[in-house]
Amino acid sequence: MAIKVDGRIVKFGVADEAAETKAEARAEARPKAPDAPQGAAGHAQEARPTADVIQMHEQLERPEQLAGSTYKIKTPLSDHALYVTINDIVLNPGTEHELRRPFEIFINSKNMEHFQWIVALTRIISAVFRKGGDVAFLVEELHSVFDPGGGYLKRGGRHVPSLVAEIGTVIEDHLVKIGLMTRERPDEGQQRHIDEIRRELGCEDGEFPASAVICAQCSTKAAVMRDGCLTCLNCGDSKCG
Ligand SMILES: [Zn+2]
Repeated sequence: MAIKVDGRIVKFGVADEAAETKAEARAEARPKAPDAPQGAAGHAQEARPTADVIQMHEQLERPEQLAGSTYKIKTPLSDHALYVTINDIVLNPGTEHELRRPFEIFINSKNMEHFQWIVALTRIISAVFRKGGDVAFLVEELHSVFDPGGGYLKRGGRHVPSLVAEIGTVIEDHLVKIGLMTRERPDEGQQRHIDEIRRELGCEDGEFPASAVICAQCSTKAAVMRDGCLTCLNCGDSKCG
């Protein structure tokens, strides 16, 4: 099939049949006025039939403006804090299919040591965000990175195995905030048991006993031995034996 090229070529890709079919589907799914400001886009999209639901995919153009959140990470590893910014894109705004998804991540710090690795990490994470689909696996992957130096303890007794794992926690917090992830909490029975032990031990709010050990489930220094069971006062995990 011959195609006459009228305009300047600004972007190209290797064609295969499956990709072409997908590209056609995408072209149809694209909103009529992608450059319109958000409020106006909401209006334009109300008139569109519901079959035009936009999903996250790599070819989605970055809007001029994205809203996001910046999180501060302070570790005992460096005098300088790290600032993690995650920007979100809102798909199908103003419709019943409205969905907020992470689009890109940036990390800034005054401390430029190891910075090329951090930049590499953020570029790869951003690429995964833009691919769409389930991105929650990133959190698990990052959480399983262990610093040979042993990691460090945060306020509240949570053990962080590495800086990479802490970046994973920031992403987790963000995904929970925008509703793409839920955090596992102790169930009602576990919470009652936790409250009971905390009362017996006279724990202050938000603190765990000094004798507590690190919980294998949630990495918080909050597990105490009760009736032969190591019970975590943070997540409720309990191991007897
Ligand atoms: Zn726990």
